[in-house]
Amino acid sequence: MQDAFVQRRGLMLVLSSPSGAGKTTISRELLGRDGNLALSVSATTRAPRPGEEDGVHYHFLDEGEFRRMVADGDFLEHAEVFGKLYGTPRRPVERTLDAGGDVLFDIDWQGTRQLRDTARADLVSVFVLPPSMDALAERLRQRGQDSEAVVRERMAKAADEMSHWREYDYIVVNESIPESVRRVEAILQAERLRRERQTGLPDFVGRLTDV
Ligand code: 5GP
Repeated sequence: MQDAFVQRRGLMLVLSSPSGAGKTTISRELLGRDGNLALSVSATTRAPRPGEEDGVHYHFLDEGEFRRMVADGDFLEHAEVFGKLYGTPRRPVERTLDAGGDVLFDIDWQGTRQLRDTARADLVSVFVLPPSMDALAERLRQRGQDSEAVVRERMAKAADEMSHWREYDYIVVNESIPESVRRVEAILQAERLRRERQTGLPDFVGRLTDV
């Protein structure tokens, strides 16, 4: 894997899904298993949840700071999600890609669309779907002591997010976490080997001519 690190430009792997479909767990597993993959830490104006650390899960900003970064062109993409602002800081991503590292993004369909418009050649997008709407509702119910009304609202948001599944390169239906991790790893490995991404092929291939 070390060779590949210096021999190609990195790729941008986007994982999107509605909350409750298992994306966070899949991301964590991937990052733990793949030394050439780094997480893009987003900025957001939403408040930290219990256990979330500034600079690790998100960069927590107030709206003024966020808007200033937008004005300065510091975001690769940004979007409003459920009334809060979210954005991908540009510099760390560009630094990692230039060094041949791959970057994992946990962003929504709006951000994915913007990246597709600006960085198409580098982008690989994966949408994680739950096996069924019932399975998703079950997972959302297990998350906390939320009322049925809150669960219904989350389900409506999930349906909105999922309606964009056709805009993605790959679809993974998350029946089991280990299998979904294997599938996303397979996507990543295959995409790393795409002809146009490889700059470190053996010298002789350049001397081969069409017969
Ligand atoms: P949460 O607040 O639950 O962490 O995230 C809410 C939604 O915002 C998720 O769908 C997540 O993928 C999305 N999100 C997180 N960071 C970003 C970002 O930088 N850009 C965009 N467009 N969406 C983001």
